[in-house]
Formats: sequence, C-alpha cells, structure tokens
Amino acid sequence: MTDTPTLNHWINGGEATGSSTRTSPVFNPATGRVAKNVRLASTADVDVAVAAASAAYPLWRDTSQAKRQSVMYNFRELLNARKGELADILTAEHGKVTSDALGEIARGIEVVEFALGMPHLSKGDFSENVSTGVDVYTLRQPLGVVGIISPFNFPAMVPLWFFPIAIAAGNTVVLKPSEKDPSASNWMAALMAEAGLPAGVLNVVHGDKESVDALLGHPDVQSISFVGSTPIARYIYETASRNGKRVQALGGAKNHMLVLPDADLDLTADAAVNAGFGSAGERCMAISVVLAVEPIADELIAKITERMSGLKVGDGMRGCDMGPLITEAHRDKVAGYIDIAAKDGATVVVDGRGVEVDGEASGFWLGPTLFDNVSTDSAVYQDEIFGPVLSVIRVASYEEGLHIINTGRYGNGTAIFTNDGGAGRRFQNEVQVGMVGINVPIPVPVAYHSFGGWKESAFGDAKAYGPSGIAFFTREKAVTSRWLDPSHGGINLGFPLNH
Ligand code: NAD
Repeated sequence: MTDTPTLNHWINGGEATGSSTRTSPVFNPATGRVAKNVRLASTADVDVAVAAASAAYPLWRDTSQAKRQSVMYNFRELLNARKGELADILTAEHGKVTSDALGEIARGIEVVEFALGMPHLSKGDFSENVSTGVDVYTLRQPLGVVGIISPFNFPAMVPLWFFPIAIAAGNTVVLKPSEKDPSASNWMAALMAEAGLPAGVLNVVHGDKESVDALLGHPDVQSISFVGSTPIARYIYETASRNGKRVQALGGAKNHMLVLPDADLDLTADAAVNAGFGSAGERCMAISVVLAVEPIADELIAKITERMSGLKVGDGMRGCDMGPLITEAHRDKVAGYIDIAAKDGATVVVDGRGVEVDGEASGFWLGPTLFDNVSTDSAVYQDEIFGPVLSVIRVASYEEGLHIINTGRYGNGTAIFTNDGGAGRRFQNEVQVGMVGINVPIPVPVAYHSFGGWKESAFGDAKAYGPSGIAFFTREKAVTSRWLDPSHGGINLGFPLNH
C-alpha cells in the first residue's frame, strides 16, 4: 500500500498537497483494486484555492478578449490531439469503455468550441440618443471567482460544460470534481496551463462534503455550478442561495421512452439498448423506463432481449460494449433491485448477476438487466437506480404513458418513438420534461443550445452551457452616458425623464 500514488490538488498553476491528511481511495472498477488515493481538502485548502483564483481574477478579467480566445483555441487543439490520453484516464477510473469515453470528450470539446465565440456571445447592446445627447448601453462582465462541483459519471464532460465558458468570459475557477474519478480534472487543468492559461485562473481542489461546504460558504465565491444527485443538488441550491450566490444545480433523473404502436420496433429496440445500457446506465440521460403502448410490448421485449444477449461486458480497454459500475457498493445496490423487482411482482426477463465478463473477476460487474410489468409503486420505478437496468411498463394508450411521465418526480430527459409526426408534435408540447427526443433516445442538446431538466432534475433557473451558460457566467451592467452638453437643464430633483 505504501507505493500507492496520491493525487494532489492543482492550485495556482501547479500541484499542491494542501494541509489536510485525509484521503480517499480511487479504484479501477474493472479490477476492483485501488489505483491511487486522492487528497480530501480541508476548509483551509479551499481557502488557498479561492485566494489563488481571487488573486488571478483582476488580470484575467482585463486580459483582452483576443488573448483569452487564443488560450481557449490552443486548449481546443491540444485536447483534440491528446484526447486518447484523457479517454484512458476515464476508462481507468470510471470504467466506461474507450469509445464511450471518446464520445464524452467529443461532447466536451463542443463546449470549448462554443466558448470560442465568446467575443460575439457576450456583446452588449447600444441605444443611441435615448434622451437628447444621452446613450444607454449594456455590458456583460464576468462574476469573479466561480465554483464548479461535478459528479463521477462524466469526469471530463461535466467540468467542460462549465469551465471553458466561465474562463472565456473572464472569470476564474475553483473546480471540485468527484473524488471517485478525480484525475481527469488535473489532466485538463495541466493542459489549460500548457495552452497558456495564467496560474490561478483554473484551480482544482479534491474533496468531499468539507470542501463543498467550504466553497458554498466562501464569501469570495460568486457562483456555484453543480451537477449530481437530487438530494445534494437541492442542498447545494438552498445553501448557496442562502449565502447570496448565483446557483445552478442539476440533479438526478428517471428517463422514459414512450413507444407508440406505429414505431419502427427495430430502431426502437436499438435505441432502448443503447440508451439503457451505454455507460452501464450511469448517465443522467440514460433511458431507464420503456413505456410500451400495447399491443407491441411482447414484440419489443423480444427484440430488446435478443440485442442484450449480444452485448459484451468487460474491461473498457478491451473493446467491450459495457464496462463495470463505479464502486462495489454501488454495484451491490443496483443488483439489489433485482430482488426488489421480483418481490414487487415484476417479471425479471434478464438477470445481470453472474454475467460472463472479459475482465478480472474482482471488477464491479453487473450485466444488462431487464424487467417487465414493473409497477409505478415499486422502488424499481420510483428510485433512480443509475445502473444497467431497464424497466418495461405496459400501457394502453399515449395518454396513459404521458400521465406516468408527467406525474414523475424528475423531468430531465424523455423520448417518444413513433412514425406519426402529429403524435411527436403533441408530445413535445405536452410532456413536462426539459429535454425531449423524437425518435432520438438521448436528446442531449448540442453546445449552442442549453442543457437542463425540469422538476427535481434541476434547481435554479439557469441551464448548463449554450445561451444559459453565457448568461450565468456574466452579469449585465447598464450604462447611461452623457458627454458634456452645454444645454443641460440645471438643477431638477424630479425622477429622470427622457425627452
Ligand atoms: P453525488 O450527488 O453523490 O455527487 C456529486 C458531487 O457532490 C461530488 O463532487 C461529490 O463529492 C459531492 N457531494 C456528495 N455528497 C455530498 C454532500 N453530502 N455534501 C456536499 N457535497 C457532496 O452524485 P454522483 O453519484 O457523483 O453522480 C451521479 C448523480 O448525478 C446521478 O443522480 C445523476 O443523475 C446525476 N447527474 C445529473 C446530471 C444532470 O445534468 N442532471 C448529469 C450527470 C449526473
């Protein structure tokens, strides 16, 4: 154990050990072994990171847009050239297969490319001569030091949803990634330094609740961008708002796919398998419930089951379709839903326990699992399971399916599968969910639209990236100006009028 490496923080342009002696193990989920330990910051360590970001802020804010953009451009080029290294880090610590890791990085690079448009996106407005000799204009200015807290399931993409936009807009950042797969953040911070980012503009502190609470309570942190589970998202939103910060807090999900009888069932079965079991179901946009409008359930389940039998589960480095789950405890919790399903009267069509894997037996494995006849009262339906578990609920009509979706707690993503354009259009209008797919199972918006759910899937009114990201990481200032005018009206204590 003594030669297990320890991952440090990244503060003020280099590695920092901090003062805390607490650490947490980082596993390779495909082997079940500890690969490294990560430091868990104390409040004092967070203070050091925020101080570095505060010190870097005035200079970065006043750095010309052209120079800021050239750093982002270099970063984009470096990231593209070296994404293989980052994908290997993701597979080693998260477990997702290499092709999926590269997909995550590609979606992150999209946001960097969006942020390259910052000079245009953050332009203000100008109104000339609103009153005689008076002009009014708006500026979009950075906030200062911003905090980002990210989850384990997208260790590269979720930080990339936020920090390129924040930094391109002139803010400085303290990023607190998940302690379960923390190395990607250090790698990206080092790459930003290589791209020319000045020290202190992007800092990474590793930690758990203590470091999160330190960020939420720090008077010099202007905003918090959080992505994670719903209970923590709610806590972040309430605490940071109470402390006067701007907050966006994206939470958990339970995403439904509504399949109408006229849908192409081969396309639908492919989509259900891809969206249900990709990344071992550890995606906030994973499909976890298929609402099959009868009479197609039997045929659809047969097609899904057939496809599931061809999935290769194993070490993500070996060209498999699906990797392990993030921890042993999480694997056991997810597997526990198989007994709950049977107890609650569902049919266990495919049981993923004991799956044959291309990997070490000690990995955190669970094979693709399928339930039929799931009741909406069961914990299998109510809970966000966050694993390779797909539930089928048979419904009699579009209306019954829509009702189930709209009465759920979450509202992150959803999809309808149909060949009826009118039904698709009606669904997009009626469904109470923030991101909707029509014959698209994982409708994650491209970087120039914004990402975010409704209901308990998001707290606060700001979505991630896209136009919402620009609005979140800048604040508007309205300037009313008049240059010396010999015809000014002298003393007048009345409220200013325009004429
Ligand atoms: P999590 O809520 O356990 O952790 C998220 C972050 O919060 C981590 O950085 C963690 O260190 C920190 N944290 C954990 N417990 C805390 C506490 N008690 N106090 C303060 N901070 C705490 O989430 P996770 O397990 O890492 O990620 C999976 C969850 O994230 C799922 O629920 C998934 O749906 C959700 N998610 C949502 C989106 C979205 O866009 N809506 C995207 C990705 C993941």
